[in-house]
Amino acid sequence: MASSSPPVHLFFLISFFAATWLPVESAYIAYNTSGGIVAGKLNVHLVPHTHDDVGWLKTIDQYFVGSNNSIQGACVQNVLDSIVEALVADKNRKFIYVEMAFFQRWWRQQSDVVKKVVRELIASGQLELINAGICMHDEAAVHYIDMIDQTTLGHQFVKQEFNQVPRIGWQIDPFGHSAVQAYLLSAEVGFDALYFSRIDYQDREKRKDTKSLEIVWRGSKTLGSSADIFTGIFPINYEPPPGDFYFEVNDKSPVVQDDPLLFDYNVQERVNDFVAAAVSQANITRTNHIMFTMGTDFKYQYANSWFRQMDKFIHYVNMDGRVNVLYSTPSIYTDAKYAANETWPLKLDDFFPYADRTNAYWTGYFTSRPALKGYVRVLSGYYLAARQLEFLMGRNSLGLTTDSLADALAIAQHHDAITGTEKQHVANDYAKRLAIGYAETEKLVGSSLACLTESVSYSQCDNSETKFEQCPLLNISYCPPSEVDLSHGKSLAVLVYNSLGWKRVDVIRLPVISESIVVTDYEGREIESQIFPITSAAVDLRNSYVTAYLGISPSVTPKFWLAFPVDVPSLGFTTYFISSRKLAGSKTAMSTQYSSQEIQNSNTLEIGQGNLKLQFATDEGMLFRYFNNRSLVETSINQSFCYYSGYEYDASGANPQASGAYVFRPNGTFPIAPDRQVPLTVMRGPILEEIHQQINPWIYQVGPIPTNDGIGKELATQIMTTMTTNKTFYTDSNGRDFIKRIRNYRTDWELQVNQPVAGNYYPINLGIYIEDDNTELSVLVDRSVGGSSLLDGQVELMLHRRLLHDDGRGVAEKLDEVVCVNDQCEGLMIQGKFYLRVDPSGEGAKWRRSTGQEIYSPLILAFSQQDSGSWTKSHVPTFSMADASYSLPDNVALVTLQALEDGSVLLRLAHLYEAGEDKELSMMAEVDLNKLFAGRKILKLSEMSLTANQARDEMEKKRLKWRVEGLASTTAPVRGGPVDPSKLVVELGPMEIRTFTINFDHMLPKINTEKKA
Ligand SMILES: [Zn+2]
Repeated sequence: MASSSPPVHLFFLISFFAATWLPVESAYIAYNTSGGIVAGKLNVHLVPHTHDDVGWLKTIDQYFVGSNNSIQGACVQNVLDSIVEALVADKNRKFIYVEMAFFQRWWRQQSDVVKKVVRELIASGQLELINAGICMHDEAAVHYIDMIDQTTLGHQFVKQEFNQVPRIGWQIDPFGHSAVQAYLLSAEVGFDALYFSRIDYQDREKRKDTKSLEIVWRGSKTLGSSADIFTGIFPINYEPPPGDFYFEVNDKSPVVQDDPLLFDYNVQERVNDFVAAAVSQANITRTNHIMFTMGTDFKYQYANSWFRQMDKFIHYVNMDGRVNVLYSTPSIYTDAKYAANETWPLKLDDFFPYADRTNAYWTGYFTSRPALKGYVRVLSGYYLAARQLEFLMGRNSLGLTTDSLADALAIAQHHDAITGTEKQHVANDYAKRLAIGYAETEKLVGSSLACLTESVSYSQCDNSETKFEQCPLLNISYCPPSEVDLSHGKSLAVLVYNSLGWKRVDVIRLPVISESIVVTDYEGREIESQIFPITSAAVDLRNSYVTAYLGISPSVTPKFWLAFPVDVPSLGFTTYFISSRKLAGSKTAMSTQYSSQEIQNSNTLEIGQGNLKLQFATDEGMLFRYFNNRSLVETSINQSFCYYSGYEYDASGANPQASGAYVFRPNGTFPIAPDRQVPLTVMRGPILEEIHQQINPWIYQVGPIPTNDGIGKELATQIMTTMTTNKTFYTDSNGRDFIKRIRNYRTDWELQVNQPVAGNYYPINLGIYIEDDNTELSVLVDRSVGGSSLLDGQVELMLHRRLLHDDGRGVAEKLDEVVCVNDQCEGLMIQGKFYLRVDPSGEGAKWRRSTGQEIYSPLILAFSQQDSGSWTKSHVPTFSMADASYSLPDNVALVTLQALEDGSVLLRLAHLYEAGEDKELSMMAEVDLNKLFAGRKILKLSEMSLTANQARDEMEKKRLKWRVEGLASTTAPVRGGPVDPSKLVVELGPMEIRTFTINFDHMLPKINTEKKA
């Protein structure tokens, strides 16, 4: 074991030898790094930066501490340690830091001495925290609520520790850029500019030619110029310019050698290189300011190595005088751009899809790792609901918080996390963090519901007698609390919590072991219910996945699904009871099951109760007609499946692009003809009708995708209608605005089509729809997927991908997810849902928006077994946070309700409709806060920026107004006015999200629901 001597001794030793051996006159050069902007010259802004992925080839913690270096030599501690010393050494030097997940890890380990130094560096602007979310989130596969939450978490940290408000969006690496990032996560956050590098290679070439890499981006049709953001796209990437300017210790660029007593003196050559790079970039840039992004992934592990060279460049290039160089930041650069008073090209919609070269569309990652994507979405909705309960109970009142789930979800939004573009061990790390976060939050939810439902004072809540269990694996038909024997007089209380601001009527389904079941509401009335047999495929999947993930074999196997309708108040709960009591005239109906044989006796089969009917052709087993008796919509429709075979790496080098985790590159489309006539199983009953189809052995659930033929496959489903859609379809931006897409067309340039499938894929988080003069067809999704409309009248969604080659973008692993039981591994199976509806033309928005909220925020179920029917004597059976008569308007969602550390409460309300989207619902909405928070008095209400780190009016005052090229003034958007503190009614214009902090007179609730006697 070697011990290291303190660095200070080493320093004296070197000084001693230097003084002894070197001639005094050439020992020291004081580099002049003090230059600022010089008017009339070309100003080169050197922006020293590092890009630190919050997990990719290594896990976040491995990157932080610098372990697992055989995969990638990267240690973020080294970066942060060394930039502090380098910045202290010269006050002209500057640095930006972006990813708060790393910065927080580092910060909590620092001494008070270092913290004081860093606070000074940040206060002086030498070290600037920009973007400053927990991670640099992806922009395709993320939901806007997750984007807001993870950015808020970082911004709150920066505000609390450093009293800083980040000014700049720095999304330099995500693989394409969304409209929601532009208007919501930039303009509405109060950023002055947004910078990034990845846009389509064809788009980039045109923008270079027209000096249009820097633009004003208007991402929202509805909010228009009120949410413009100045946006800079880098000419190539986020690295130093061409010409060898990389200076990590092991980089190969020639350093500036300026000691005449040493060989290889090269000052003039390097100055010439620098001036050439500057002139080249200036030729494609408006104004006399250009930015050199001096850094790349995990650089500055020994920061002085870079700063030493940049000191010399600034010194010698400024002596040369042809161009002016300065240490800068994106903030300084943005201010210089603004001061130039230039006009800028206007950009609408978004930057999807992204291709970095011919045949390389990064549209595979819209679907890659569908299980991780699904897990993130489920927990996102759960986190929203859990924070409501945390607010209701008072933060930390139970010794539990939602913080670890918040942190895990934030990290999972990273552009190599939810995207599915990380190595398998890193994907496992994200899932593990989410599972740990869920486990703590599940306890909080269970205890909170127990407390709310027990008729006790809140001080006794930490030892409630009621114990609730939940069923996070209900998606694989596994729910131990409902799979219990109720034959000996026991009953099961099912508490159903609704996190939506509206009363909700829905059907819930639970696995049960017996069909002798009765469901009652809290007033003892029997509820109609229906029993379905659980299919053997579902049982097989349940049993093997429970073994794989929990390491146990389920002790019982449920035989049935129990389905019953529930009616739950807004922001509250109600309770139902399941027992085995046999009542005369029971309302529990066993589904009538029809087998293929019985069905085949007629040509067509119709299913659906009420207004909606679906007709199937019994000979082919295919859906062919959709009919709604109420809206009178009728459409010919069918669903089919196909797979794309993944392009393989061509060793000849002629065509090296394979399909992989990032890139979708199909090598042929193969329709999946059913193996035989598709067997239909139909179940009918009073509540639900179901039709089950098994297309082939691996399309029932999806997977395991077979690859034993040596071919990777990407599975898609198509819904085909006879609608006339003229190449046009609509996909959402991060679950919020819908953007018009036209097949084989881009708004900003003449598209050269070389990938007619992959190049027409777009990210989908909420849904996709098509329309013609008569009807519109919408499909909503339960997680992020890729999709398109490759033919008129058609919608396509990619469901799952299993590939045998790496696509050459650095991850260096094939996307081949497996699940192992007792060392036997097979391809991952995916079960998912999509929701389809046909509406009369112009009437689909209401369904898409309301159902979209229900999909995002499923009902939360909590179970408690009891011995007798005495629950309602000791429990509050139903509860709503809001006034009993109140619910949010149909066009408004509560997207955040969260108790903050300082005792205040964070509230976000979102208008769900775009301008003109729906005749009635695109209007101004009003929310009455007094009624929303029944029983509490609002003492103070402050409107804030989106991430709640500054007052909204302060933000608006600082907003830079950029000039747009050749554009007349536009009409002002509809936005809600200031809130009158005496009325406390919040107005919301279309697509508006308003953020408030609130102080209440008391934090604990006064339940205004009378105890049932
Ligand atoms: Zn990255």
